[in-house]
Parts: sequence; C-alpha cells; structure tokens
Amino acid sequence: MKLIKKTDNKIVFQAEVEESLANAIRRYLNQILVLAVDEVEISKNDSPLYDETVAHRIGLVPLQTSKAAGEKTTTELKLSVKKEGIVYAKEFEGKAKIVYSETPITTLEKGQELELVATARTGKGETHSKFAPGLMFYRNIFDIKIDGDCPKEVVDVCPKKILESKDGKIVAIDVSKCDLCEVCLEFCGKKKKDSIKITPTKDLMITIESFGQLNTEDMIQKSIEVLKKDLADVGKGLK
Ligand code: SF4
Repeated sequence: MKLIKKTDNKIVFQAEVEESLANAIRRYLNQILVLAVDEVEISKNDSPLYDETVAHRIGLVPLQTSKAAGEKTTTELKLSVKKEGIVYAKEFEGKAKIVYSETPITTLEKGQELELVATARTGKGETHSKFAPGLMFYRNIFDIKIDGDCPKEVVDVCPKKILESKDGKIVAIDVSKCDLCEVCLEFCGKKKKDSIKITPTKDLMITIESFGQLNTEDMIQKSIEVLKKDLADVGKGLK
C-alpha cells in the first residue's frame, strides 16, 4: 500500500485490492451509522423559506459523529434567533458539533424570528443521503511499456505530462496519473501498432472523501467492520 495524498477530509492511496472487494467497501459506506437531524419542530418561522425547506436544509447539515455512536444515539439541537441577516448553522445550541459552522440555513429581515427544536439520530446512507458519510471511488493503475519505434514527440502529446525522454528511451515517470485517455496509443499507433502498450496492473488508486461527520480512516474501518459482520452472518446462515 502506498499513501499518495492525505488531507483533513480526503485520503488517496494505491493498493493491491480486488475490484470486487473495493466495490463492496464502497457500497458499505452507506451501511455505517452517521448522525443527522431527522425531526424538526418549528414553533416560529418568519423567514422566506417554507418550514419543510428549512427542515430539509437542517437535515443536510453535517454533524460530527462519534466513533462510539450506536443505533439508539440521539441528541437535541435548539435554534432561537431574532435578527436581521443570515442564520448560520453555528447558531444552534446543543451537544452535537456542527462540522461546517458557516452553513447558511435561511435569512431573516429586521424583527423576524426563527425558533425550532431539531432531533438528530443515527441512520444509514442507504435510507437517506443525509446519513451518507462521504464518497469512495477508485481506478486502475496502468503499466506503460514503450518501445523504440514510438516517436519521441509522444512526450508532448500526453495531457498528463507523465512521459519523459531519458537516455534515448521514452519512459513513464508517474503511471498513477495515467487516466487511459489513449492519446499516446493513437499517436504511436500511426507509426507502428503496439509500439506502446498500456495494461492494467493489480493495483487500484483509491480515493475516500469525507463529508465531515467521520474521518476517512473511521469511514473505511467501519465499512469493513459492517461488511465482515454481514459476511459472518451469511456464513452462519449457510451452516
Ligand atoms: S493514456 Fe493518456 S495519460 Fe496515459 S500515458 Fe497515454 S497519453 Fe498519457
């Protein structure tokens, strides 16, 4: 496994993983428990948005989810605002931590009010996208072989600039960036067919992006845990 990039909410790595397994882990991200507002009781809403729209927007505000959150985890958030201007997610009061405090909820004119109580619960992305923890996608890493018949100008046609002329030979310097656009195949193929060969390796480049409720490590770890549990249940069921 090779770590390519890591930021607060994104991880990119290269690993030898079967596509079917990577896809199962990707799909199981929607089986892990994530906290989101699921019920809103609005007592005052002078804003230009309908109650349903305000509730929908609040439901999509990412809430930090503890690793220990279980199926029965719930928490309450209160919002009571009388002001002129934009109402932000940071104005909620309660124990749940808002991930992006500057998320706008609605707007109020002078003297207008918004008063509500929101109940957050854990749920799974398969039931509603507000419970989705983020995204995962992957692609193959390719092996590039170039022989002497390939014109050296191929270096200039690669849009990713990953081909280089070294000691009279053309080599690929960073195959992980190749997206199989096939421009080089077409270019070299004009002179001699098969003078450049691109084949998929067993490695995948995997990207995981978090929406903020859980970090990327917890996302993948929890997805694997739930997948393993379901597979164990299938095994038990077959006995
Ligand atoms: S397939 Fe496209 S990106 Fe990959 S080496 Fe060829 S030209 Fe470059």
